[in-house]
Amino acid sequence: MNIWYENIFHCNTIKKPRRPSFFKCCPDESIMSKIVEAILHANGDGHWVGDGFPVRTLFGYQGDARLLSPFLLFDYAGPHTFAPNSGAPRGVGQHPHRGFETVTIVYDGEVSHEDSSGGGGTIGAGDVQWMTAAGGILHEEFHSPGFSKTGGPFRMVQLWVNLPAKDKMTLAKYQAITNDDIPFVPFNGGRARVIAGKFQGVEGPATTFTPINMWDVRLDADTTVTFSLPEGHTSLIAVLSGRVTIAGQDACEAEIVRFSREGTSATIHADGDAVVLVLTGKPIDEPVVGYGPFVMNSETEIRQAIEDFNSGRFNQAAKQ
Ligand code: MN
Repeated sequence: MNIWYENIFHCNTIKKPRRPSFFKCCPDESIMSKIVEAILHANGDGHWVGDGFPVRTLFGYQGDARLLSPFLLFDYAGPHTFAPNSGAPRGVGQHPHRGFETVTIVYDGEVSHEDSSGGGGTIGAGDVQWMTAAGGILHEEFHSPGFSKTGGPFRMVQLWVNLPAKDKMTLAKYQAITNDDIPFVPFNGGRARVIAGKFQGVEGPATTFTPINMWDVRLDADTTVTFSLPEGHTSLIAVLSGRVTIAGQDACEAEIVRFSREGTSATIHADGDAVVLVLTGKPIDEPVVGYGPFVMNSETEIRQAIEDFNSGRFNQAAKQ
């Protein structure tokens, strides 16, 4: 049962015909459109992470890990309206991560984080927490005390970004990126906030281990926009609200369009006002072996992670 999805609507049951999958040449022959390879959505109805995060997992590393690299997991929390809460803030208590980064983007509501490297704070609408778990971190995520008291609409994304083998055991770190740090780039038909990478020559504030673009994009109703996306990058557009049409296919709220790595652009049409998250990343061509919050390159490293966590070494690793 969909207990938390509000304003949810599904794509038209009548799909427009799919265009053949070949590269569409543009007037400028050097510009090649990426093609739509898949539309990803939650498998089932979602789940609660702790008691604070009603999440739909739009993809995870158990699936097409190679095709999605360097991205490992995409959780879309909400939209959900929380009632005022007089008790302890809802959320998820201490848990470990190793081998990757967690990127939390808040659209509505407020989240307070704390981790064993000393990173943390409260992030609200428009803010981003970029946490590098790397060699090991202990993490807590709760609604902020303020949001917990007042309640209200809640919506966020948590993305897991893989690290190359050589960086998996580096020191944990934390980037607090506030709304004010994120450049805002208006364009014909919408505007983009550049969290990471570069959009129309404007660079985002996040430091990344491998080349990544992350743009929070708002599109006006009934506009068509062509994004330049790097050749060779895993290229995703997550629809967070509204509906878009790409190469004759519809994608709605909580669906992710995965494009071909080949090609240098993607054209999308917003049927109504839409919010999309554009993600591209250079693939990391290494094995992905994961177990819950640990994502490494081999079974041996996973066993080591479990052993290190059980013997309390995560806390120490983060403080070295
Ligand atoms: Mn966490």
